[in-house]
Amino acid sequence: MKKHEQNTLEIYNSLSKKKEVFTPIKKGNIGLYVCGPTVYSDVHLGNVRTFMSFDTIFRYLKHLEYKVRYVRNITDAGHLVDDADHGDDKIVKKALLEKIEPMEVVQRYTVGFHDILNKLNFLPPSIEPTATGHIVEQIEMIKTIISKGLAYVVNGSVYFDVLKYNETENYGILSRRNIEDTMENSRVLDGQSEKKNPQDFALWKKASENHLMHWESPWSVGFPGWHLECSAMSTKYLGNKFDIHGGGMDLKFPHHECEIAQSKACNHTEPVNYWMHTNMLTLNGQKMSKSTGNNILPDELMSGDSKHISKGYSPSVLRFFMMQAHYRSILDFSGTAIDASEKGYNKLMTSIENMEVLNISDKSTVDINKWKDSCYKAMNDDFNTPILIANLFEASKIINSIKEGKQSINKHDYIILKETINSFVFEVLGLEKQEKKQNNIALEGSVELLIKLRNQARDNKDWAMSDQIRDELLAIGIQLKDSKDGTSFTVSASV
Ligand code: AMP
Ligand code: ZN
Repeated sequence: MKKHEQNTLEIYNSLSKKKEVFTPIKKGNIGLYVCGPTVYSDVHLGNVRTFMSFDTIFRYLKHLEYKVRYVRNITDAGHLVDDADHGDDKIVKKALLEKIEPMEVVQRYTVGFHDILNKLNFLPPSIEPTATGHIVEQIEMIKTIISKGLAYVVNGSVYFDVLKYNETENYGILSRRNIEDTMENSRVLDGQSEKKNPQDFALWKKASENHLMHWESPWSVGFPGWHLECSAMSTKYLGNKFDIHGGGMDLKFPHHECEIAQSKACNHTEPVNYWMHTNMLTLNGQKMSKSTGNNILPDELMSGDSKHISKGYSPSVLRFFMMQAHYRSILDFSGTAIDASEKGYNKLMTSIENMEVLNISDKSTVDINKWKDSCYKAMNDDFNTPILIANLFEASKIINSIKEGKQSINKHDYIILKETINSFVFEVLGLEKQEKKQNNIALEGSVELLIKLRNQARDNKDWAMSDQIRDELLAIGIQLKDSKDGTSFTVSASV
């Protein structure tokens, strides 16, 4: 029997505003789509919180032995400043500012995004599609929406006709707005609007002369609207109807509302069974955000190079800090709060070390199965990581009392305790043991030093020394790679 058959998972559905028992469309399988980053600048800790919440959700669904197809896109075109239907594309604007190709902007920040997620021990999604890689699918979708009479063409741009759609469907169903309320966030440039109504949103925009990213279409040389890419890519990889769609709460309106309208206009069915929205990470009580500068970057947090903190924190401490709050609650970042998380994380790791050396008795005085059930109960209750962590601290207490001889545990229960702790701490929460990280840092530092010495040897034309360093490192599984940008290295998994 698979684990998910033994557990009843409940998910808070933002569409119904209720916790619902989770039933996948296809038994044992889950389609999960999460809106990815717009790659025009570094991700900050706020963005990381949203992606980390879904990384943990993905990890738990996999732990329950579901077969999960997790799609998280990269927005590399079409996301306009202020999400309005006028103004600059965020990536194009950055490219013009830095005098580089838009695709150089995309490449730089996509690499940066992956680098951060690797450092923070994220699992890669199953598919990571890009908007620019799916222009054909987006054009096809626009054609379908036009053919249904729900979009119109003006001067080479195509807009979704919200009021027409709202005659038979409910625009605002997710964000619980009526049609008048949806005027908000639908700003119009005075006198310049091509739209029939301010609520209408762009499916395709004709490119202006200095718009560097553009494609041929039946309507103009232009580019797709931001909302469309997610509908096109989720449908392509997960079908007309799929299980879970996630993103930050700030994407509910207009982005997700528009996604629902586009997909429904094409396929006449609710595209998503469970909508999940994460709450915001704040700093000094204000939302962390790229545009206001009220943010901390993950690298700043790890190095301690930020005015908001007095030292650096490891990736696992950051994960622990974020998981101590439920994904639907606001989490305020502060040095004091993350210091407390660091203490908690260290305490948990010490207990895990102590667990390895516990005395095994003939009988147990602790109810390990009850404790194990409470861990699953926490995660089955809408992925309640703070309650899970409280249970892990409970396990710390149990371990300490066994160590001190106040309680005892038999072999059978010990195996359950160990397996459950390891599953939840490392597999589900994605935490790592501190020493492994410290060893990695020491290893990196040592290899960098040897690369420096090898470069000096090469400068001195001491080829024998240079080759010796390269060959001896290779013999222990560390391969140096020379390129025009310098020397990098890879470590074989056995090191
Ligand atoms: P963006 O690259 O701006 O499209 O944002 C990527 C993701 O990060 C989206 O799901 C946003 O909702 C989310 N996000 C942005 N700011 C925050 C924040 N302060 N706290 C949590 N999530 C955020
Ligand atoms: Zn999206």
